[in-house]
Amino acid sequence: MALLEVTDLKTYFRTDDGVVRAVDGVSFSVDKGQTLGIVGESGSGKSVTCLTIMGLNPKRTAMSSGTAMWKGEDLLTATPKRLREIRGSEIAMIFQDPMTSLNPVHKIGAQLAEAMRLHEDVSKKTARARALELLKAVGIPRAERRLDDYPHQFSGGMRQRVMIAMSLINNPDLLIADEPTTALDVTTQAQILTLIEKLQEEFGSAVIMITHDLGVVAEIADDVVVMYAAEVAEKGGVEQIFKKPHHPYTWGLMGSLPRLDADVERLVQIQGQPPSMLRPPTGCRFHPRCPYVMPICKEVDPALAPVSDDPGHLQSCHLDEETKNREAAKLLAGMMAEAS
Ligand code: SF4
Repeated sequence: MALLEVTDLKTYFRTDDGVVRAVDGVSFSVDKGQTLGIVGESGSGKSVTCLTIMGLNPKRTAMSSGTAMWKGEDLLTATPKRLREIRGSEIAMIFQDPMTSLNPVHKIGAQLAEAMRLHEDVSKKTARARALELLKAVGIPRAERRLDDYPHQFSGGMRQRVMIAMSLINNPDLLIADEPTTALDVTTQAQILTLIEKLQEEFGSAVIMITHDLGVVAEIADDVVVMYAAEVAEKGGVEQIFKKPHHPYTWGLMGSLPRLDADVERLVQIQGQPPSMLRPPTGCRFHPRCPYVMPICKEVDPALAPVSDDPGHLQSCHLDEETKNREAAKLLAGMMAEAS
């Protein structure tokens, strides 16, 4: 049984202008110790998917359906008390901006110890010792002294390390990281990703990495879900997605990967803007931006279907297999040529 099995998850928000379909029938699973990358542009529904699983959407406006089975228990029907128990102990989250989760008026050591004592009946001394152990594990220099510093006394990268320490304090089975490196410079980004990988091996947690950057996914994910306009465009193992991408949106994301080793910053950009989810386009939601659009694309929403001869790889596009294979091969050959 998967650790987390999400099936046909939908989250709609009531607004004054109408209903926003933020997540519209998303399914995926995460196994113990595995890393799942959920990738897509901002507004694609990737963060709301995880907030729904964690029970963190505003109650007054959000409507959710589907199931999110956590070790056999549906999180969508769990009581607020049960969700609070699970959050922070069994499932932890790391956000883009650590200051949203760290309290500016309390010392780091006290905050870490408090996070532990909320879920475990341990003495202050034990909790402080664990806080110190974790600050060392995430690579905070002179950790003993820094326990008594306030969040503003840390740099952005160090704050994110503290946040990671906080998320690991109760040995969660699943860590959800929402764009954890976006606000950081490239060198610190790489360090934080390496740190998450290292800690995952050490602590054995599964990870859901939410990102707009396919490069991050290539770096650390085992499986990938590509989201576009609240739906899954493509999903599969990381090798399946990178070696045989089958959806024009995935091609666009791959083509726009930043090139750190070349003068050319970007190869291709996806034209246009993501649609408003108040009134999503008919048919395939990517059709207004897709260079391969056909008449059927404007009428019929393509179902998520298996790629032939590639078990576990799913895609939702009306193009025929031959065209997909040809275009994917062209894209990959172009990327290899650029890199050489
Ligand atoms: Fe493009 Fe049509 Fe495929 Fe959508 S279904 S991605 S519009 S070719």
